[in-house]
Amino acid sequence: MSRFTIMNILFGIAALVLLNIILKQDLTWWALFVLATLWVLSVIAGVSSIQLNLFLENENEGDARFNEIALSFDDAPDTEILPQILSRLKQHNIETVFFIIGSKAEPHAEVLKQIHQAGHIIGNHSYTHFSKFPLMTTASIISELERTNKVIEEACGKKAHLFRPPFGVTNPRIAKAVKKLGMQSVGWSLRSFDTTLSVERVKNRLKKKLNGGDLILLHDGDVKVLEILDFIIPFALEQGFTFVRPDQLLGIKAYEE
Ligand SMILES: [Zn+2]
Repeated sequence: MSRFTIMNILFGIAALVLLNIILKQDLTWWALFVLATLWVLSVIAGVSSIQLNLFLENENEGDARFNEIALSFDDAPDTEILPQILSRLKQHNIETVFFIIGSKAEPHAEVLKQIHQAGHIIGNHSYTHFSKFPLMTTASIISELERTNKVIEEACGKKAHLFRPPFGVTNPRIAKAVKKLGMQSVGWSLRSFDTTLSVERVKNRLKKKLNGGDLILLHDGDVKVLEILDFIIPFALEQGFTFVRPDQLLGIKAYEE
């Protein structure tokens, strides 16, 4: 049973209790309005925060007791930036996960092969990364995921298991699609905001917030990420952290068998 189902049952019970009190005229109808507003706010929080695991169980972080951390990259592959990310990771023997957009990756099977051969995982980040992805029907979401899985399998011979929802947004339809395909949704515990903040602010943010068990969210496609990597890798190593591959950090499998 998802947390969303449990939440709905609890709100349903609360509504019945309130209704009973209202009918005895001990409370005004406004109480039900307040309860409905609380429900809407809870759903909005669940949709926008992947860490709440409201609709499905996302894997967001490792064990905070250890000094292991991992990097993850969304919106791959960018044929100009990605090779530079790969060379930086190779310098430090870091293996990570690239969540690819199927339509962007489809013409670049050789790039996917290169990522795979370097020991990194390739995960699914939808086929179109359409801005209205969260509003799609379950069938369309399944089709998006399947198309990208096909791109990954054709390039690397591996069946993708990991899926990162575009924008980190989840809802009951996305949950249903992920479950139907037997995939694992992966979130993050430390968002760099590399697509919106300046490099300096990203560096300060990572410096301040980095903890053991963190899965860091970065993006492929902007030259800024290279400068961020040049900072965060040596900084984390100096602080005594070890970079591990995300499947190891999270204790999950990287691909379907
Ligand atoms: Zn994305």
